[in-house]
Amino acid sequence: MLANDTREGWQHFLHFVKEKCSATAFSNWLSPINILEADEEGIELEVPNVFVQDYLLSNYKKDLCAFLPVRTDGTPAIKFTLKAPSKEGAPHQKESNSPSKKVQIKEPSIYHVKLNENYRFSTFIEGTSNQFVKSAALGVASKPGKSYNPLFIHGGVGLGKTHILHSIGHHILENHPQLRVQCITTEMFINDLVDALRTKSIDKMKRFYREEIDVLLVDDIQFLQNRLNFEEEFYNMFETLVKAGKQIVITSDKPPGELNLSERLKAWFEWSLVAHMGLPDLETRVAILQSKAENKGLDIPSNVAFFICNHMQHNIRQLEGAVNRICAHSRLMNLKITEESVEQILKELFQKAPKSKISVEEIIKEVASVFQVRHADIKGQARTKKIVLSRQVAMYLAKEMIKDSLMSIGAYFGKTHSTILHACKNIEILVEKDYDLRRQIDMIRRHLVT
Ligand code: ADP
Ligand code: MG
Repeated sequence: MLANDTREGWQHFLHFVKEKCSATAFSNWLSPINILEADEEGIELEVPNVFVQDYLLSNYKKDLCAFLPVRTDGTPAIKFTLKAPSKEGAPHQKESNSPSKKVQIKEPSIYHVKLNENYRFSTFIEGTSNQFVKSAALGVASKPGKSYNPLFIHGGVGLGKTHILHSIGHHILENHPQLRVQCITTEMFINDLVDALRTKSIDKMKRFYREEIDVLLVDDIQFLQNRLNFEEEFYNMFETLVKAGKQIVITSDKPPGELNLSERLKAWFEWSLVAHMGLPDLETRVAILQSKAENKGLDIPSNVAFFICNHMQHNIRQLEGAVNRICAHSRLMNLKITEESVEQILKELFQKAPKSKISVEEIIKEVASVFQVRHADIKGQARTKKIVLSRQVAMYLAKEMIKDSLMSIGAYFGKTHSTILHACKNIEILVEKDYDLRRQIDMIRRHLVT
């Protein structure tokens, strides 16, 4: 790839992303990136902060590899350079050459999630695993701000947290039409905040959230874990709303204590009514499956429903996927729904293996990519500051993420177990005071587990 090709590759990548993501996400995350240099071996990009780098690598790593030169370890050949902080305020705004030419600032609208029409209490199937959550949710929906406030719902992926959150929203709107309900996802709220900071309309946004809503439904608070500099804003908003008697409901994929957030925010969540959405038992799964099938006009015999649910235990969304597949097959191919035909149709869903164990090799690869060093350097002997730091981070993460003895981990790096211990101690001290390093390590962890 020639230098021009690399530049063009980047432009094509931008064009590709523009088609895929929302205009707000594009202007928040992609527009602020500048090319500093490009040659046939790679590209140097200037990013306003580590979050933009994180966003790019988390969401588009594979696509970047398709448009840009790729390193031997399969990662996109991008060097990230943080933009020096400017004294001119909003970092995303390009300065105009002509003083008379004012920068056009678009007044952003406040985003909200449209409640899903199908996510209602009436369509939520109850079982022992979710009874408590449903009762608490009904309590909140019947007397917003007066019964349990805040309500914190946690549980695994695809178990109905968003369904319950939207059900609360619908119920309140139907029974208390004077109340103003605002439903957001954490991700979207942060995008909105970034946008408001950029267009200097943050006061308007704060006013809206503090004064113009009665019920705030916040989905997937775990996304705040990787956006720690927005924590303060969330905390203040939550505090103000609850003090004013406004209802807050929060969902999360982890209980408060396991979230990687400040102790203050975790304590605040723990003080709320914490309700766990558990894995539904077999009978509940069968009832859910039958109800989803019924909605599609599909009749699944009871023995087949039990057969499917025995194989699919961890995620209701997957059960819905199964119903959709069976529905398509039975209609298109006029197939009779039996255990045998269903097994054939759902083969891959049944065989879904849990995520394989993380290897030291994967950790080194990720660390090399984020720290912009070569894979071989981490395993080598070089002593430059950057390489030593990335090597120590790799050791630190290997100790944390791999259930193996220090000796075996050490052997992988060609070091003794005491070198690994020393590296871990050093990184532990550094992350205490180095915010950027902490962010980088978090980013690597996330890439490794998703
Ligand atoms: P989560 O937010 O926990 O990841 P969702 O609320 O998106 O999960 O649920 C995934 C799908 O499973 C949705 O379509 C939802 O309607 C369905 N679902 C989950 N639990 C139930 C339930 N108890 N009854 C009916 N549908 C459910
Ligand atoms: Mg959800």
